[in-house]
Amino acid sequence: MVNTIVVVGAGVSGLTSALLLAMGRRASVTVVAKHMPGDYDIEYASPWAGANVSPMASLDDSRWERRTWPELKRLAEVAPETGIHFQKYRIYRREQDMQGSKRVADPMFDDDPWYKDVMPEYRELRANEVIPGHDSGCEFTSVCINTATYLQWLLGQCLAHGVVVRRMVLRDLAEAQYLSHAGRPADVIVNATGLGSLRLGGVQDEAMMPVRGQTVLVRNECTPMVSTSGTDDGDTEILYLMQRAGGGGTILGGTYDMGNWESAPDPNIAVRIMRRAVEACPDLVGGEGRGIEALSIVRHNVGLRPYRKGGVRIERERLRLGDGRDEATAPWVVHNYGHAGWGYQGSYGCAERVVELVNEIRLGLPVTPGHHIQ
Ligand code: FAD
Repeated sequence: MVNTIVVVGAGVSGLTSALLLAMGRRASVTVVAKHMPGDYDIEYASPWAGANVSPMASLDDSRWERRTWPELKRLAEVAPETGIHFQKYRIYRREQDMQGSKRVADPMFDDDPWYKDVMPEYRELRANEVIPGHDSGCEFTSVCINTATYLQWLLGQCLAHGVVVRRMVLRDLAEAQYLSHAGRPADVIVNATGLGSLRLGGVQDEAMMPVRGQTVLVRNECTPMVSTSGTDDGDTEILYLMQRAGGGGTILGGTYDMGNWESAPDPNIAVRIMRRAVEACPDLVGGEGRGIEALSIVRHNVGLRPYRKGGVRIERERLRLGDGRDEATAPWVVHNYGHAGWGYQGSYGCAERVVELVNEIRLGLPVTPGHHIQ
C-alpha cells in the first residue's frame, strides 16, 4: 500500500512530482521544503532559470525532454496564467566550436539534431539570417517560462489538488518519515532537493556539484530567443537571451561555470553579458549604435544549476535508517534530483517517472536499475 507520500523540495522538480502524484488521487501528498516559490536564494535553483526549452540531451537520453514538451506546449496554448508563452528560438553556431577536441558537447548545436522532429517549425537558417561572427544556425518554435509566475502557478495547482505544503529544513532525509500532514508515517519519500542532495543526511551524494549561472534581467524586450555555441570571452561565458511572458522582462545570459559556488554577481561578467546580448540583438536597445547604457536593469542574478556527475538520479531505494530497524520495513525513497540546466524542460518527463516508480512500489515490483543521464 502507498497511502502517504512526503515530497522533500519545492523547486520545479518537487512541485511537478507532487502535482502528478496528487492528480492520481491515490495517496495524501505533503511537500516539505526550506525554500518555496517567492524566495530568491542561492540554495534554490528554480527561480533563477531563464527558463526556456533548449533541447540539450543526447538522442539516447532524450526521454525526459521529449515527454515534457507536449505538456509545456499545451500550457502555452491554453493556460496563459502559467507564464509560459511561445517564442521563436534561434541557435547560432560557430565553426570553431563545432570541431576538434573542444567541440561544444551540447547536442542542441548539432546540425541534424534529434529534436528537429519534436520542436515545431524547425528549419536551418539561410546565410543572410545568421548573425555576424557565426557560421550557421537553426530556428524553431519553443517556449519561455516566466519562472516567478510558473512556480506560483505550480504551487497553486498542488494546493488545488489537496497537497499540503510545510516549510522546514531537514538535516536527514529520514526526518521526512514523520512529516506527513496525514499524521501517518510516510510510505514513500520523494527526494527532490536538487543541490541540497550533496549535504542532506541519508543522501550525501558526492556526485553533485554547482554549475554557476550569472544573468542580467532587463526591462528591454527582444525576440526571438537566442543561444550561441560559444563566445570569445572564455569557456565559462555563454550567450543566450529570452523574453519572459507577462511583463517578466528579458533574461540575458550568461555563464556555465562548473564547481563555482560564488553567490555574488560579478560586475565584470555582467558587463560582458550585456555587451554580448546587445551585439547579438541590437533591437534590445532600439537598434544599431546604442550600447549597454540603453539597458534598463531589473536585477543581477546568480543561480547554481544542480549538476550531477553521471547524470540525473531518478530511481528508488529503501530509506537508509541506520537505527537497527529491518531495511525491508523502511519506507521507500524515490530520488528525482541532479537536473543541471534542464530542470524545467525535463520536469514532466521526470515527474512522470516518479509516478511510475511509486506505482512499481505499490505493485511490489522488484527494483530495476536507475536511469542516469548527463
Ligand atoms: P531546486 O529548485 O534547487 O529546489 C530544491 C528544493 O529542495 C528547494 O525547495 C530547497 O529548499 C529544498 N531543499 C534542499 N535541501 C533541503 C533540506 N535539507 N531541507 C528542506 N528542503 C531542502 N532549466 C531549464 O529547463 N531551462 C532553462 O532555460 C534553464 N536555465 C537556467 C539558468 C540558470 C542561470 C540556472 C541557475 C538554472 C537554469 N535551469 C534551466 C535549470 C533549472 O533551474 C534547474 O534544473 C531546476 O530549477 C532544478 O530544480 P529542483 O527542483 O531540482 O531544485
